[in-house]
This record gives sequence, structure tokens and C-alpha cells, in this order.
Amino acid sequence: MSAPAAAAPKPIPPKLNPVRVPVPEEPVAARTEDFREVLHAYSKEDAILEAKRCIQCRRPWCVEACPIDQDAREYIRLIAAEDFDGAARVTLREDPLATCLCKVCYHYCEDACVVKKKGVPIAIRHLKRAALDFGNDELVYVPSTPKHQRVAVVGGGPAGLMAAWELGVRGYSVTVFEQEPRWGGLMQTIPAYRMTDADVETDKARFRNLDVTFVDGTKVGRDFPVDRLLREDGYRAVFLAIGTSTHRSLNVPGEQLPGVLPALGFLHALNAGHPPALGQEIVVVGGGDVAMDSVRSALRLSQGGRVTLVYRRGREEMPADPEEVHGAEAEGIRFLFQRAPLAIEGRTHAEGLRVQTMELGAPDSGGRRTPIPVPGSEETIRCDTVIVAVGQKADLTGLEDPALHLRLTNQGWPEGQGPGFETGVPGIFAAGGRSVVYAMGTATEAANAIDAYLAKQRGESTGPRPDPFGGTEPFHRPVGYTQPIRS
Ligand SMILES: Cc1cc2nc3c(=O)[nH]c(=O)nc-3n(C[C@H](O)[C@H](O)[C@H](O)COP(=O)(O)OP(=O)(O)OC[C@H]3O[C@@H](n4cnc5c(N)ncnc54)[C@H](O)[C@@H]3O)c2cc1C
Ligand code: SF4
Repeated sequence: MSAPAAAAPKPIPPKLNPVRVPVPEEPVAARTEDFREVLHAYSKEDAILEAKRCIQCRRPWCVEACPIDQDAREYIRLIAAEDFDGAARVTLREDPLATCLCKVCYHYCEDACVVKKKGVPIAIRHLKRAALDFGNDELVYVPSTPKHQRVAVVGGGPAGLMAAWELGVRGYSVTVFEQEPRWGGLMQTIPAYRMTDADVETDKARFRNLDVTFVDGTKVGRDFPVDRLLREDGYRAVFLAIGTSTHRSLNVPGEQLPGVLPALGFLHALNAGHPPALGQEIVVVGGGDVAMDSVRSALRLSQGGRVTLVYRRGREEMPADPEEVHGAEAEGIRFLFQRAPLAIEGRTHAEGLRVQTMELGAPDSGGRRTPIPVPGSEETIRCDTVIVAVGQKADLTGLEDPALHLRLTNQGWPEGQGPGFETGVPGIFAAGGRSVVYAMGTATEAANAIDAYLAKQRGESTGPRPDPFGGTEPFHRPVGYTQPIRS
């Protein structure tokens, strides 16, 4: 009798390294002198080392957490194998705004990365940057067979640009209308120490062979009615990606005083090269990312001024990205928690912010503890500048048509309520959202729906997005993908 065959040896699980290769940072003392970049790129060698920490999970949690299904597992594998050209191609295959996202993405992928359970997750965003820095920089998108149908996109932010790309690579003729002279939507307000307009232009330049026309300085709804695009101008579908371009006010007395600045206007003017005058005692009201960008920008602009952040809840409730909070703290920003603004004091100019202390009560529906005013706890924080960073809202001027049935999300983004974000008007779709990559994900969903809507008119069926570099393999989710993880 022959001996039984030896059982195949069990595969040895890869050893998990919980320690991240450090991302180079500009020293605090130097970086607050001006708007120079704070987080620098990995060297080629460090990128390879960091990529080798990835255990190439069979189920790609990082991809499932990404609103645009970016195959991070694959570009990390290619970087570990020192194939940066391949990594750049994989990156840009699903992400046409990669130059922006590799600097400012909120990296939902890193939150989902299994390595986080044992230590610091893989630096997926920084590896994306390495793929672009060291990989082929001549990749340009090409359209598939022309569809001979025109689509209008209103808004040149992340959602509008993503939709233009999605439809452009499928062979549609797209026109993007933007009210501003600059592209990128709210990304224009992100300070230069994190990203610049040049990053948007680098990404936009890869669209040059697509049939996408960019028209700036045109506000749809004010300059002409939106339905003219469908009725008279020959467009077969419209995507409204108008975002939240206007500022929310505090609604307290004194808000009209000189020295009180809306955060969006402040950051926008700064990036456009017209920095507003600030005093030396600056208070920023808010707890989100716009507030973080405001405190850190005010610190740099005021050159020695004292900057205080006032937030009505506690640190745990702050919606800001922890990376930004850490950066602000390291730079010496003073945080005053559980203070709600009551009024801005001053006769001819802001002189102080009157606040009241808050106790934190039971969690609200979103899980954040509700601030409750403490009677008799009012105090005035002396200051000469107040920057208000308590949110944004959509400007629906000229788009108030009730037939559109637009719904405003919790963060104020207008979207269509039908499948694929179709509005109440057939052929008009609307979406966008609370982060760059999230907005891009909504645009992909809307673009898929627009493609299906227009294919029906042609009597054809639709398929997945073709390879945007003209290859034969259309978009598919990577092996092992089970279901989207959406936070
Ligand atoms: C200061 C700041 C910092 C941020 N930091 C980050 C970050 O680090 N990471 C991150 O992921 N997200 C960040 N965000 C959020 C991110 O910028 C937004 O979620 C994203 O830009 C939303 O994209 P969108 O295309 O839906 O809308 P928007 O970016 O608002 O773009 C809409 C565009 O439409 C244009 N428009 C509006 N109405 C019309 C009209 N009628 N006609 C023509 N054009 C019109 C607007 O001018 C704008 O360009 C930040 C936001 C701010 C304000
Ligand atoms: S979840 Fe983390 S470890 Fe797993 S494939 Fe993605 S990056 Fe690599």
C-alpha cells in the first residue's frame, strides 16, 4: 500500500507591520512663515517600503470603502514591485482628479484598511502621490466611439469634472459651464499649503483629447434658463453639479461689522491672490475642515497674530479631519471648546466675540452630543477679526423650478431624487457632495444613469466604462470585492 499523500502546507499569513514609513513634514517653525507645502512626497525608496507593508488582502477593504472604486490594492502592489508606470496607469484609470486627491482626499480607504486594526493603516493617499510622481506622466485620456449626443454639465467642481470625464471617455460631447474664472469648485478654497490650482490644471490637462469643452464665467440660471440647454441648444441631458458655493451665517447681532469675514470668501480671496486684511487677535467660529483651513491660513497671513478656534461642542464631536486638527494644534492654534457665539461686539469694527459655555447632553440623531447653554456663563473673547466657518449652502438662483424636485442633503448639496440622481425633469440630473471623492462618486452614478438614458434614445444598451486609455478591458471591480463600504 502506498503512503498517503502529504497534506499541502498551509500558506503562511503575511506578517503585518503596524508602523508606517513616516511622511516627510515641513518643520512647524518654517511652515507657518508662508503658505509652503506642509506634507511632502515620499521618496521612491520610501514609497516602495511603505507599499510592501500592504498584505494584499483577498477582500480589498480599501477599494470597497472608496466612492470611486479606486483599485488601491493594485497600485500598491505595483509600487511594491517597483512598477511606477503601471501604478500611475491604475491610479488614473479610475481617478481623473488624482493629482488633487493624492493631496486632499479624506482617504476612506485608510479608515477601512485592515492594518489599522493593529497599527497605522497603509499610507494609501501618499502612495497614490508616489505613483504619479514617479510613474509615466504622459498619460492622456482618449474617447471611445463618438456617440453624437451632447451633454451639458453645470459646475466645474469635482462632481462636474468627474461627470465630464465619465461621459467624455464614453464618446459623448460634453460642455462644462462654470460661473467662476477658476476650476475645481470648492477645491479652490483649499489653502496652498495643502493643494493649488496647478493641481486641478494638471488633472484637467489629461482631458485634452476628450470632446469636453470648458466654458467659464457663465452662470446657468442667471445668464440663461437651464431648460434652454435642452430646448434650444441641442443638449440631450444636463447634469447639475452646482455644489454649495455660498456661505452660511451665524445669525447673531454684529455679523455685519467690518472685521467679520465669511470663511469661504476669506479662503477664496486668499487663493485668488487678494488676501483680506486681518488683525492680530483672530477668532474662527466652527469645527469642520473649513474652520481648520481658516485658522491655519489666518495664522500664516497674520504673521504673528493669535488665532483661536471657538467650537460649540467638544473635541470628539469635531467633524474636521483629525489630520487637520493635529496640524492646527502643532502650529499653536488655541482651541476653545463648548462655547457658542451669541453676538459680535464692537461699534465701528469687530472688538469681541460674546460666547456662552455649553454643556454636552445626549447624542443627537447623528451621534454627536447636543450642546445645552449654561445660564450665566456668558463671556467676551477680545478680538479684532472674526472668521465665520459654520457651513455652506447651495445657490439655487435661477434653478428654483419646483418641477426639478431637488432635495438638499444634510450638508446642503442639491441632488435629484430619482434613480441615478435624476430630477423631476426628464434628462436633468443633479448631484455632488461632502468631500471631493464622495462628490466624484455621486457623479459616476449620475453619469451611468445619463449614459443609460441616452443609450435608450439611440436604441442601444450600455456597458461599463471603457478603458479611458483606449485599452480593451472595460471597468470591472477587482477580484475579491464583495460590497461597497460607505461611511
Ligand atoms: C475650505 C474647504 C476645504 C475642503 N477640504 C477638503 C479636503 O481636504 N478633502 C475633501 O475631500 N474635501 C474637502 N472639502 C470639500 C470639497 O471641496 C467638496 O465636498 C467638493 O468640492 C464638492 O464638490 P461638488 O462638485 O459637489 O461641488 P463644488 O465643489 O461646490 O463645485 C460646484 C461648482 O459649481 C459652480 N456653480 C454653482 N452654481 C453654478 C451655476 N448656476 N452655473 C455655473 N456654475 C455654477 C461653482 O462655482 C462650483 O465651481 C473642502 C471644502 C472647503 C470649502
Ligand atoms: S485594506 Fe490595507 S492591507 Fe488590505 S489591500 Fe487594502 S491597503 Fe492593502
